[in-house]
Amino acid sequence: MDINEKIISLPTIRELIQNSKLLPKKSLGQNFILDLNITNKIAQLAQCSHKDIIEIGPGPGSLTRSMFIEGARSIIAIEKDKRSINCLNSLKDICGDKLILINGDALKLPLDNFAPFPKSIIGNLPYNISSRLLTSWLKQIHYSQFIFIENITITIQKELADRMVSLNGNKKYGRLSVFIDLLSNTHKLLELTPSVFYPEPKVFSSVVSINPLKKPRYEVNLKTFEKITMLAFGQRRKMLRTSLKSIGGSELLRKADIDETMRPENLSTKDFCNLSNTYDQL
Ligand code: SAH
Repeated sequence: MDINEKIISLPTIRELIQNSKLLPKKSLGQNFILDLNITNKIAQLAQCSHKDIIEIGPGPGSLTRSMFIEGARSIIAIEKDKRSINCLNSLKDICGDKLILINGDALKLPLDNFAPFPKSIIGNLPYNISSRLLTSWLKQIHYSQFIFIENITITIQKELADRMVSLNGNKKYGRLSVFIDLLSNTHKLLELTPSVFYPEPKVFSSVVSINPLKKPRYEVNLKTFEKITMLAFGQRRKMLRTSLKSIGGSELLRKADIDETMRPENLSTKDFCNLSNTYDQL
């Protein structure tokens, strides 16, 4: 039997969960996908064939199985829950060195631990930490010369995905949208109904593809950009001359050639970079 046949002959994820009494924990954001047809689709969209992958939160391993079926070369799977790690041991027996299981917290593991690169990050993320994880990865990629992540394909709450890909003028456009736009090419691949998860979450989910850019879309000091977008969107209904008062308000806006009565949703990523660069030159 080849690897794929062995994987397909494993007990189903549903059986695995029942046999090992893996009761999903809300505190760990556990909403498992049981249907391999769905995870196969995600693995195909993530184009994981021949790739080296870092998987976040494999749980009982449906997506992990699908990625191997799709031809992933290797997977490092980081899972906080010891019970889930135990569920993955039978897959580990089949895949050997191609699957490395790490019982740890993805928030505390810097990406440079996972050299050599390039690698891709894939996962059905715990929803309570997806935004933090993504922001942290993009910053690490930005600040390090050595980390090379080709692609990030993650399943997250639809609402978060919508905020990530929003354009200026849209209600959901905010600090996250400009940050993501500055550092990546991002688009939604697929929407998932609550019914594909166990237990069913209250909200819809989206599978999103993020391709980190080698350099930010526009030249800017990222710290300044973050500071200014935080101030501006922190009071999103206020005019910029008010929300940016502590860093120069009207004068700064005039120097950057931006109308002081604008609100943050009127500014594009490029405008925020221009504003940041003007501030740095004051
Ligand atoms: N990929 C699986 C499980 C998704 S649920 C599936 O699609 O079925 C999210 C998973 O992330 C859970 O298994 C949970 O235990 C794990 N997790 C939660 N917080 C984590 C953290 N900080 N680091 C790593 N894994 C985490």
